[in-house]
Amino acid sequence: MTPPLPPGWPRAWTAFRRAAYAASPPPRRQFPPREFLDHLLTGAAERLPLLDAPPLAWADAERVHAPAYLARWRRGEVTREEERALGFPWTPAVVERGLGSSGATLAATHDALVHGLGINLGGGTHHASRDRAEGFSFLNDVAISARWLLDGGHARRVLVLDLDVHQGNGTAALFADEPRVLTVSVHGANNYPFRKATSDLDVPLPDDTGDAAYLAALDERVAPAVAAFRPDFAFYLAGADVLEGDQLGKLALTLEGVRERDDRVFRWAARTRMPLVTVMAGGYNRDPERLIAARLGTLDAALAAFQLPGGAIMLG
Ligand SMILES: [Zn+2]
Repeated sequence: MTPPLPPGWPRAWTAFRRAAYAASPPPRRQFPPREFLDHLLTGAAERLPLLDAPPLAWADAERVHAPAYLARWRRGEVTREEERALGFPWTPAVVERGLGSSGATLAATHDALVHGLGINLGGGTHHASRDRAEGFSFLNDVAISARWLLDGGHARRVLVLDLDVHQGNGTAALFADEPRVLTVSVHGANNYPFRKATSDLDVPLPDDTGDAAYLAALDERVAPAVAAFRPDFAFYLAGADVLEGDQLGKLALTLEGVRERDDRVFRWAARTRMPLVTVMAGGYNRDPERLIAARLGTLDAALAAFQLPGGAIMLG
């Protein structure tokens, strides 16, 4: 007999519904229009309850970011150069989004500790490092939550499985000297960031890589490294920017290929009873409907692998 699901479980955390976030226009033309977000939230809410995440506390951001850096960004004392590196100008909404999205990842981390699976509908700002914002990333949400786990003794060996099409350079730099975190990045070799950091495992892929070669890289390169590390907690950056037609990707996965990627990750987590947090990371497809399909596919893959809702596997 499996225990009954607690009320309101499974669930996903989101910062997208917060009022100021919802009211602010997308900061870049590559970002999906407002209607896209509404479609995504509607589709997600048909699958599981959505909760507004509490914003991250600044003290938690200090687990990985320099206090002076945070103080400047909090007050808007940033240079033109820093705004250029970020990819859009500083506004109070930039700070609010960063705290909201990082708060959602931390809330999902709590969920994963209790139930085995945590979901943030945003997050994955993996280019931010200790005192540098770049690539739409001001706070490194996954790094903050990974450090929170280690600091609190909630995990001993943390995997960051970064399958966004862009290298997780901020995360790699933040954990370069941390043997308790395995940073894995599968990314486009000829894509941003053009000066890459060194992850524990980097798997650079050529332009136009399709489903078969991508999935083979997961099986042949990533799986053995993960097995050897023996994590007791995992973060999964399920970037949809690997999908063909992405304005900022250069790979050529189909929707079926992205779903198969997600299925493999979530099935591995469920099979090995690995507490796992998934964050959505990048996605800038020319066709917003395909992007929505990829995002909802990630949710469906997670719910199917963990057999939720229904005959529930509950971990932890
Ligand atoms: Zn990306």
